[in-house]
Amino acid sequence: MQRHPVETRRNRSLQRFAGIFLFTALVLLLAYALTGFPQEKNIWFVSETEQKTYSDPEIFRLDTNAAQHKTESASGKESAGSEAQWQLLLVNAQCPMPQDYEIALTELANGQAVDCRIESDLEAMLNACRAAGFSPLVCSSYRDEAYQRALYEKKVEEFAAKGLSAGEAETAAAQIVAYPGTSEHQTGLAVDIVDLNYQLLDEAQEDTPVQQWLLENSWRYGFILRYPDAHSGCTGITYEPWHYRYVGLDAAKLIYEQGLCLEEYLAQLP
Ligand SMILES: [Zn+2]
Repeated sequence: MQRHPVETRRNRSLQRFAGIFLFTALVLLLAYALTGFPQEKNIWFVSETEQKTYSDPEIFRLDTNAAQHKTESASGKESAGSEAQWQLLLVNAQCPMPQDYEIALTELANGQAVDCRIESDLEAMLNACRAAGFSPLVCSSYRDEAYQRALYEKKVEEFAAKGLSAGEAETAAAQIVAYPGTSEHQTGLAVDIVDLNYQLLDEAQEDTPVQQWLLENSWRYGFILRYPDAHSGCTGITYEPWHYRYVGLDAAKLIYEQGLCLEEYLAQLP
């Protein structure tokens, strides 16, 4: 018995619809399996360039899922009532990075990365700065040694191109870009923060609304301006009104109130 043509067409339509439905369901399931399941983030991210320019104020917001990476690093133990060892880690030309130093990094929303233990205070500071009406931007943060070496060698080449001897170029470069192994950026505890509306790393950065706010308030969140103008003889680094270092709440308060640099603060500790 032959089927009615209309009924046959209806059956074919139903089959086609069921096929499309099943295909769509399979595609959705596959997409979810590939992207929807929790994945371990790559926490070893290195910033690309030192003075990369950003325009979107949202991209420097911190990753709120970063807390899952909070771990105790082998580099320091928490001690109640005083700053933990890791918070007061001194890295400068005389004190290079410890050989076995381990860092658990957390990635910021713009691809920068910091030691995961400073993430919540950094986030609180940036949020408070924004709430005050300003636009802070973390433009540089954790660097591994290879990246620091590339920055340093680039600076040496710049001075050599100006006619300085190899030795002179190295000395001059080290005043501006720390020698590999001696940069605080390798600790994951330092961040360069600029004003979104003025992103140059020069002394005029000091006059921006963001820096004015940070100079006055960063200590409340455990950060200090690491290389103040008046202390460049002590730190060995020229004035950087953008480089902030996490030292913990108590130390930051004292350093701010007493007008010290980190080297001086550590020297007066018992
Ligand atoms: Zn810096």
